[in-house]
Amino acid sequence: MKSKADAVIIGGGVIGLAIAYNLAKKGMDDIVVLEREYLGSGATGRCGAGIRQQWGTEMNCRLARKSMDIFENMNELLETKMDIELKQQGYLLLAFSDKEMEQFRKNLELQARENIPSREVTPEEAKEIVPHLNIDDVAGGTFCPTDGHANPFLVVKAYEDAARRLGVEINTFTEAIDITKEAGRITGVQTDKGFIATDKVVNAAGGYSCQIGEMVGLDLPVKPERHEILVTERVEPFQGPMVMSFSYNIYCQQTPGGPFLMGFGDPDEPASFNRKSSWHFLEEMARKTYKLLPPLGELRVVRQWAGLYNITPDRQPIITESKEVPGFYMAIGFSGHGFMIAPMTGILMAEMILGEDLSLDINLDLERFEKGDLILEPSVV
Ligand SMILES: Cc1cc2nc3c(=O)[nH]c(=O)nc-3n(C[C@H](O)[C@H](O)[C@H](O)COP(=O)(O)OP(=O)(O)OC[C@H]3O[C@@H](n4cnc5c(N)ncnc54)[C@H](O)[C@@H]3O)c2cc1C
Repeated sequence: MKSKADAVIIGGGVIGLAIAYNLAKKGMDDIVVLEREYLGSGATGRCGAGIRQQWGTEMNCRLARKSMDIFENMNELLETKMDIELKQQGYLLLAFSDKEMEQFRKNLELQARENIPSREVTPEEAKEIVPHLNIDDVAGGTFCPTDGHANPFLVVKAYEDAARRLGVEINTFTEAIDITKEAGRITGVQTDKGFIATDKVVNAAGGYSCQIGEMVGLDLPVKPERHEILVTERVEPFQGPMVMSFSYNIYCQQTPGGPFLMGFGDPDEPASFNRKSSWHFLEEMARKTYKLLPPLGELRVVRQWAGLYNITPDRQPIITESKEVPGFYMAIGFSGHGFMIAPMTGILMAEMILGEDLSLDINLDLERFEKGDLILEPSVV
């Protein structure tokens, strides 16, 4: 392991690796990634890996659309032949009330301005797109045919390989245990395998990002929250798009190869590092799915697991440098959408660290929480 680095990135999930790759591509020499387990062992390897561009704020539409461009061209951009299993068969977002549908229409106007090819669908049109959908209580919906899904492990591997080729040192099973400072500035990272001198540290530790904040004396407004998910047996492909609803609280898609992947967010889930699966989730998931997508009720569940969302008060990320601790960067708090915007996050964070102009206007700093200036994104899970 290097004893000196230009930047140390804590966290070997999709965010940490995308940042490492982009920094190296822009010419930074000595970059070290620390991952205390294996790459993708955190939320990244446990996530639904859905990629949707149907958002309700300009910033999120842009982050998602530009990230989708990168997913679509990943082989060329990362110079890899790896198939990341990108499947673009759309997201069908369902509304269950007129009020929700009104919000969807506002989102559509915004998305049209951002060149996102989404459109409104009636309940009957929704059923044409997903014939086994029960539209009894459905008020309408929106559909974007270029939304989709990719394999999170293969995306992680693509970034890992590209970063290593550019000289990034990636240390797995290596834990950051402290960050040292002198006169308010970062001087290095103490790991369980040795010390690395550096003046730049990136907190990309997902659900554990609050612990990394504590290492530099910051009480970050982020908390971990368990989210559960399950996968069924393989069956012949019969559902192209992801079916999702914010109010009915469900997402469900058929992945390449045949298994269905589905989950929901329990509104009563307390903040914790708990990553255990629960019987309650299995029961509730089965109940919801059986009602909305009846034939799926016949499928056998092969596996269920849980991962941590990293939640901020407005469920939007923090992508910034600390004003209190210069050299301490954060790409954290991604809630349920960090995978889909990781490609742009990697670029923006690299630009920020190198002092370049940002290629996209974002306002994801820490100060918004103190000012009460929260981002009002209506389409978040
Ligand atoms: C059930 C579920 C479903 C989801 N579905 C979607 C979806 O469909 N689409 C989407 O875009 N997003 C989804 N998400 C969210 C998405 O998974 C995350 O936002 C994203 O993966 C965050 O990536 P990350 O690299 O920041 O965090 P992580 O992948 O959690 O990586 C952080 C890493 O830091 C490591 N680490 C922590 N502390 C230390 C330390 N002290 N030293 C060294 N390493 C450390 C951890 O081991 C971990 O591997 C979902 C999440 C869950 C849990």
